[in-house]
Amino acid sequence: MSGVEPLRVKTLAKRGRLSETQWARTAQQRVVRLAEMPAIHEAFAWLRRKEIQLQERQMELARIPAPPFGEAARADWVQYRFRELGLKDVHIDAVGNVLGVIPGEDTEDGYVSISAHIDTVFPEGTLLDIRRERERLYGPSISDNAAGVVALLAIAGAIREIRIQPSSPIVFIGNVGEEGEGNLRGIRHIFNETRWKDVIDFSVMIDGAGTDSIIAEGLGSRRFEVTVTGPGGHSWSDYGVPNPIVVLARIINTFNTVDLHNRPKTTMNIGIIEGGTSVNSIPERASMRVDVRSIAVSEIERLEEALRRAAEDAKTSDIDIEVKAIGDRPAAELRGDSALLAMTRAVDVHFGITSRLQRASTDANIPLAQGREAIALGAGGTGAGAHTIHEWFDPYGRELGLKRLLLLTLALTGIES
Ligand SMILES: [Zn+2]
Repeated sequence: MSGVEPLRVKTLAKRGRLSETQWARTAQQRVVRLAEMPAIHEAFAWLRRKEIQLQERQMELARIPAPPFGEAARADWVQYRFRELGLKDVHIDAVGNVLGVIPGEDTEDGYVSISAHIDTVFPEGTLLDIRRERERLYGPSISDNAAGVVALLAIAGAIREIRIQPSSPIVFIGNVGEEGEGNLRGIRHIFNETRWKDVIDFSVMIDGAGTDSIIAEGLGSRRFEVTVTGPGGHSWSDYGVPNPIVVLARIINTFNTVDLHNRPKTTMNIGIIEGGTSVNSIPERASMRVDVRSIAVSEIERLEEALRRAAEDAKTSDIDIEVKAIGDRPAAELRGDSALLAMTRAVDVHFGITSRLQRASTDANIPLAQGREAIALGAGGTGAGAHTIHEWFDPYGRELGLKRLLLLTLALTGIES
């Protein structure tokens, strides 16, 4: 039996664009052919046998702290696992991402990247009480994203152990900086400053639990810190000196009257406000943090302009106001006629998964905003309480999630006979 040809952006471009319907048909044929191969059945059985080990690895990983900008210990752990699996070219890059490669049959480009973020939202010193109670695993980051990272290892493991030879090369990435003020710095680095940006054709990001959603649309967000500074002074003897807290309140009031349209959905939030030293001092400084989100870049830009204008209008001779961008996640989405979307849908049809297209802010935002094909999927199983210390993960159904990820990966890379 012959193999399945790889999908490569270069070759696809030569052939001309397929319509959504044509893609659906091509994808279905490809997935059915793959799913009939004995090697794929073996790989599925291998994934099933590994469940207990995956749970142990998942708990081991979640016990390693990985606050934003403090992911090094987790990166070392992932690097060790990549080497153990026999991945090639295993290394940690300049920003702390861990990478490892399964080479393709005969090519050095047209990579498929599979990634999972290794950072967490939990600050240093958070008690990492990771435990199993009955069938469930509990503790901070056990689902988001320890489940994703072990899924990454499982996919690499299945391909290596069953000696499946993908036609296109695969790069596995445990990336830093997905959460909060990490501002997608790990994946941003991969797609802006490394050689990878020229060779990756398709990206699959594994984030959290579940099999019921396909994140093919990146929710855009921009975050700002607004700082108001003035001379400050004594509440009695310096009365009349402008008060930064009052000025900041004025900015908030103006900004808050900006019209938010329902379509495209757009939101704003003032999440933190700080300033002042004592009740009888005119403060020298007041600041706030603002989060703006929208499915349309133009709306985010409109709100940024409104915020900057409100700040500008509140300036006086002895008041200084600075508006600093502290985060930027571009809004973008996968086209309806995307090959990646068609493959994912065909895989879901094959397994009888009813998934929904969803919009979220994930690592996929970066390649999507560059017009690349990228998608974020869950690692299987179920989970809840993400970003809280009550987080849990239930491995029931993980196998389906892993089979889905493996079949999708190979539908993209193609496979040698
Ligand atoms: Zn996550």
